[in-house]
Amino acid sequence: MTVEFEVQGVRVSELVRRYGTPLFVYDGTALRDRFHGLRDLLHPAMEIFYSLKANPNISVCALLHSFGARAEVSSLVELTTALRAGVPPQQVIFLGPGKSRQELAACLDTGIYAVVCESIPEVALVDELARERGVKAPVALRVNPRFAVKRSGLAMGGRPRQFGIDEEELFGQTDLVKRFPDVDLMGVQVYMGTRILHEAVIVENTTRILDLAERLSAALNLELRMVDVGGGLGVSYFDGESDLDAQVLTDGLNPVIEDFTARHPGTRLIMELGRYLTAEAGTYVMGVRYTKTSMGERFAIADGGTHHHMAAVGIGSFVKRNFPMAVLNRLDEPATEEWNVTGPLCTPGDTIGKKVPLPPVRPGDLIGVHRSGAYGPTASPGLFLSHGYPAEVLVHEGRCHLVRERDRPEDLLQRQRLHDPTAHDEADVPH
Ligand SMILES: *Cc1c(COP(=O)(O)O)cnc(C)c1O
Repeated sequence: MTVEFEVQGVRVSELVRRYGTPLFVYDGTALRDRFHGLRDLLHPAMEIFYSLKANPNISVCALLHSFGARAEVSSLVELTTALRAGVPPQQVIFLGPGKSRQELAACLDTGIYAVVCESIPEVALVDELARERGVKAPVALRVNPRFAVKRSGLAMGGRPRQFGIDEEELFGQTDLVKRFPDVDLMGVQVYMGTRILHEAVIVENTTRILDLAERLSAALNLELRMVDVGGGLGVSYFDGESDLDAQVLTDGLNPVIEDFTARHPGTRLIMELGRYLTAEAGTYVMGVRYTKTSMGERFAIADGGTHHHMAAVGIGSFVKRNFPMAVLNRLDEPATEEWNVTGPLCTPGDTIGKKVPLPPVRPGDLIGVHRSGAYGPTASPGLFLSHGYPAEVLVHEGRCHLVRERDRPEDLLQRQRLHDPTAHDEADVPH
């Protein structure tokens, strides 16, 4: 008997028969367990905002919202996604270093909870847009702190960055509240980095951010109606990494939160989580097209690759490390061989896994990359070689839902215009 990978009792062969490959499958139960695994232990004053950047699929967002997640967005389309997914505007915040006038206007017109501004000129533009509309714009300030977190995958603080306003600079801006009369300066946000896998680092960050927020509030005469402590909670992908323990994490965080809320009972506390909520719930399923050997190494050439899953090439590291992978249609077979798993792109970089321990691979096999629910297709060069987006399926309460259709050739071609080099039409001649 062969053992197949299943999602809530739905066999991978059945998923592939219905939706084809390559395919992303999301497990709704895993999403729920992930959310509640933290929510049920975390101090109730700390709200969890889902960072759509990690996986902007509207159904993933809607499902997380149904469990209680709010939304942190960074583009007009992410904002629209969150609102259409049913997240109320008062549970949405908008961040990002280069927001357009149109995006800022949409923030004010939809009445979201806060615009997190990342520079003084941005605050000035929001002030102007608010005045035009006769409203007061709720603005939180993103701070680029003097301190940096150690041991995170990508540290944000303590160096020159396009994100946020330098802590030193901000402490000098004591006239901010007066200078921008149509802005309601109501909070502070700090994001320290991503892929943090040490509970103590997150506790230390949070402690320092809350302390910084209090000092800023006093120095600038800001109301502290919200403090967003960022997040950056990681998941383990590679050998030698281990997952955060939600119990250990909340045992450290909750007293810090309790202490802060005792002093600021009216302040809304926010944590932004992307990868932590969605990574584990997703599997990228590829069909093997060909197998061969080259100079003694085995290659499984699949229909999926880095155009859907750039992260699998290696995150923040020059050394290639493999995501957890398996032959999904024969889970019970021991991994006795080493395989390079590659895709259809014409570049040696299209290598999803190097020397991956797998059982003997055959054409038609299904290779799965686990923990692939975050930073998948939307963080990959999906247009390279014009393959476009894969299908995405959400399994929820034992039923399968196609939540994104695979791109068809026409989808990829339709916005191009054919210029006929032999025609001499003058329609587009500038005057
Ligand atoms: C990317 C990002 C997040 C989400 O990061 P994860 O590591 O996926 O949790 C949250 N906040 C900000 C400001 C970000 O840039």
